[in-house]
Amino acid sequence: MVVRVFGKSATDAEKREADRLAALEQLDLLDTPRDDGFERIVRLIKEIFSIEIGLVSLIDAHRQWYKACSGLGADEVPREDSFCRHVIDLEEPLLIADATKDSRFAQHPAVTGNSHIRFYAGFPLKTRDGHTIGTVCAIDRQPKVFAQKDRTILAELAGAAMDRIELLQSAATDSLTEGLTRRAFKQEADQLISLALRHQHNLACIVLDIDHFKTVNDTHGHATGDEVLKAVSATCRAILRVGDLFGRLGGEEFAIILAHTSREEAIVVAEKIRTAISAQLVKGDRASLAVTASLGISALSIVSKDIETLLAQADAAMYHAKQNGRDRCVSWSSMPGDHSTGARRRVLKAGSILFNDRRSTIDCTIKSLGADSAGLTVFNSAGIPPEFVLAIKGEGFETRCKIIAQDRQNLEVAFR
Ligand code: GH3
Ligand code: MG
Ligand code: MG
Repeated sequence: MVVRVFGKSATDAEKREADRLAALEQLDLLDTPRDDGFERIVRLIKEIFSIEIGLVSLIDAHRQWYKACSGLGADEVPREDSFCRHVIDLEEPLLIADATKDSRFAQHPAVTGNSHIRFYAGFPLKTRDGHTIGTVCAIDRQPKVFAQKDRTILAELAGAAMDRIELLQSAATDSLTEGLTRRAFKQEADQLISLALRHQHNLACIVLDIDHFKTVNDTHGHATGDEVLKAVSATCRAILRVGDLFGRLGGEEFAIILAHTSREEAIVVAEKIRTAISAQLVKGDRASLAVTASLGISALSIVSKDIETLLAQADAAMYHAKQNGRDRCVSWSSMPGDHSTGARRRVLKAGSILFNDRRSTIDCTIKSLGADSAGLTVFNSAGIPPEFVLAIKGEGFETRCKIIAQDRQNLEVAFR
């Protein structure tokens, strides 16, 4: 691994951002499933203020992700394009009565274009330690003046959202699929891993992501999407044994821990799950539909002995399965290149992808990091060349990378 250390040390702003991302990582909330509590908050925002758009969002290194959103089509936007990034920078509420009259926003495409945004009120979502991890917003397509009373109410709603975030930290199962929540899954996995290490038993991990799920939602509607999630979850659980763990990591991404199971045996289980999913038909509103999934497999070893590493490796293998045509299982050890020894930690760090002789820069979030490889997410991977320089902001180092697997938003890279 070639690491060049910069002479300059991290600026205060970089340090603050690194701490903020660490706080966000601790909550482990990004890309988690929809939640009625937050949906209610955005509905309330719209009703109380008689406006068109309500948001509860989290902001990582490169994007604003909507935990709940009413009135906007997307799930996320690039951080640099979001109004809310100013709330993160200011660490204070931001009120814009008419965006066309505010020099920071008057030329913004959301103001000049079809979205026709005029009014914006964004309040910070602050952790107890004072880190601004996201925003609660009221947005409208016509100018509006927010009275003191309105500000107080929105501040209260931001407080309610933060309370809900704290409450969710203790939830064990996901209400839609009955899988363990990401947090609970990891906690229980840690216990199984400790046992396996102590008694020298095998243990394997599978990460499963439904293929083209966005198309299922877009074509058949969200309710049918939910039915697919339930059906896939039920299929997996029917195949698993009592002592195995099944969790929902995010929207359409699930994870499994197989106790007393070798890598080879786990590949057989994964293949069984894959064929069962592709063979089933899920009843939609109008017609039944077939879905497939891509699976990645990793196994406990001398260098991969914590849940973060097992998930990161299974995740990397799963992205490889996506890249190779989906509807398949890929094991971490069978991936090209010599990355099978690389232990990786799940992290949440701000990074920059530099290419074109450093003339082009794309912000990214580094989600897993090892001595010789990393997993990154970007807003759109189109246009990123096969090799580039990765810089970790605020830590003053950079390294040359080569892409080993990629999809629209995820990159698996090996350090050169
Ligand atoms: P790929 O094959 O590369 O995995 O593509 P994809 O379309 O499955 O992946 P992508 O990540 O683009 O889309 C995931 C979609 O899942 C987007 C999001 O709206 C949807 N989703 C997330 N959570 C839920 C949920 O609880 N219910 C429903 N119906 N959809 C959800
Ligand atoms: Mg998917
Ligand atoms: Mg996914």
